[in-house]
Amino acid sequence: MTYPYEAPASEALLERARRVTPGGVNSPVRAFRAVGGTPRFMTRAQGPYLYDADGREYVDLVCSWGPMILGHAHPAVLEAVQSAAARGFSFGTPSENEVALAEAIVARVEPVEQVRLVSSGTEATMSAIRLARGATGRSKIVKFAGCYHGHVDALLASAGSGLATFGLPDSPGVTGASAADTIVVPYNDVAAVEAAFAEHGDQIACVITEASPGNMGVVPPEPGFTAALRRITAAHGALLVSDEVMTGFRCSDAGWYGVEGPYDDGAPDLFTFGKVMGGGFPAAAFGGRADLMAQLAPDGPVYQAGTLSGNPVATAAGLATLQHCTPEVYTRLAQVADTISTAASQALSAAGVPHVVQHAASMFSVFFTDQPVRDYDGARSQDVGAFRAFFHSMLAQGVHLPPSAYEAWFVSASHDDAAVSRVLDALPDAARAAAQGGAA
Ligand SMILES: *Cc1c(COP(=O)(O)O)cnc(C)c1O
Repeated sequence: MTYPYEAPASEALLERARRVTPGGVNSPVRAFRAVGGTPRFMTRAQGPYLYDADGREYVDLVCSWGPMILGHAHPAVLEAVQSAAARGFSFGTPSENEVALAEAIVARVEPVEQVRLVSSGTEATMSAIRLARGATGRSKIVKFAGCYHGHVDALLASAGSGLATFGLPDSPGVTGASAADTIVVPYNDVAAVEAAFAEHGDQIACVITEASPGNMGVVPPEPGFTAALRRITAAHGALLVSDEVMTGFRCSDAGWYGVEGPYDDGAPDLFTFGKVMGGGFPAAAFGGRADLMAQLAPDGPVYQAGTLSGNPVATAAGLATLQHCTPEVYTRLAQVADTISTAASQALSAAGVPHVVQHAASMFSVFFTDQPVRDYDGARSQDVGAFRAFFHSMLAQGVHLPPSAYEAWFVSASHDDAAVSRVLDALPDAARAAAQGGAA
């Protein structure tokens, strides 16, 4: 397809970047491979806006994939970062900010009694799995197709549809041995989880699930699904790990747990956090019941460490962000998400484009398919061509959507009426482009 705009400065930067970095990017989705065209190299961001190297302004509906819940360069967070940085960048010793951030997390998510801070969501899930294996003395784990938990070897198996199956690695370099301990089952399928436990129950250390999946587009758990995971794992002596890296402190101040919990049959044993809790800096965490967390070094035998874990600047950014996530912030997120998703749906309907909008609190995504999506196979039934055309029309009109049909759209509390109107104004043209670009 041809793209209705030019971006010479970004094109030049991409060419330069490709010489020194694979694909020119440091995280694959940024390369725009799913939509084609040239990724925008950003130079600056403020509130709901991004500014690219060609000097163009975009309304940002990615928000750094979630962290920028208050908008870019929020004054209070900026002030916290500047004042922390002025006191030193990294101590390699404990410091008070780490305690304050841990307290803020523990105060918000009731079942979490203790956390350990790390630097990325990947590290959080990797460490939670190690802890689950260490605590249970078992090696197998169950994950769901379409759930992303970072690029941990054992969790890169996403494998197949239908029956519970041993995962095949999705990526060369992930050994068969590390994938062989991973059982992949379809999301929202209690019978498949029961079948996996019927066969391997006494070898399963944990089930790990996205609290409400957002990495295949937004596919919330069906009523009773999370509770069923709790019941089944408990019955077999396995742990339940709820990955709230995306949903944590975004779906509510207690994350998805605050939306759906507490559960009659008990809470997940371990939680993982990232994104919002770092306020745009590398900070993440895993945590849970104190008796489980006590198995971590130095109190217990399960090893885990990090040179920059609990970094004073990152923890200052995260703490300031959480402190400014007031009830008004969540109300605004809900309004913005509702306004944009409703308008997107109306525009697509008017243009005759089959689509489904799904929500998990203020996270939402638009699937270019006519059936509700409850698992990865459903997500993959989309008309990717329609999305591509839609995406590029929005981009040309100054709206930066996630560059893949399988991603959630993120809003911030800084999306004011002016920013929202710009999105609304762009939707009808984008919907008409989708109608022409689609397969139908
Ligand atoms: C983003 C994400 C991760 C990985 O976090 P990184 O900081 O990118 O390593 C893990 N789990 C979920 C649910 C995520 O959305």
